[in-house]
Amino acid sequence: MPAKRRCQFTGCTSAALRMIGECPNCSLNFCASHRLPEDHICPKLSDCRQQAFERNKARLESERTVANKMGTAQS
Ligand SMILES: [Zn+2]
Ligand SMILES: [Zn+2]
Repeated sequence: MPAKRRCQFTGCTSAALRMIGECPNCSLNFCASHRLPEDHICPKLSDCRQQAFERNKARLESERTVANKMGTAQS
């Protein structure tokens, strides 16, 4: 019989959720209260945020370029 997984959040004694309790970022298992990256202060969260920020920035810049081109064509 497999041992019950415990939430990996420091100080938490709740049982980790199966499947959905695993954080896709840090691969640790958490209970319902801590499964979100924000809730267990995921060590990979800042990386993800930074990547999302960079992606968003690049997208906005490309959109702005397209908008400028359209504006030029219309005038
Ligand atoms: Zn927990
Ligand atoms: Zn995590």
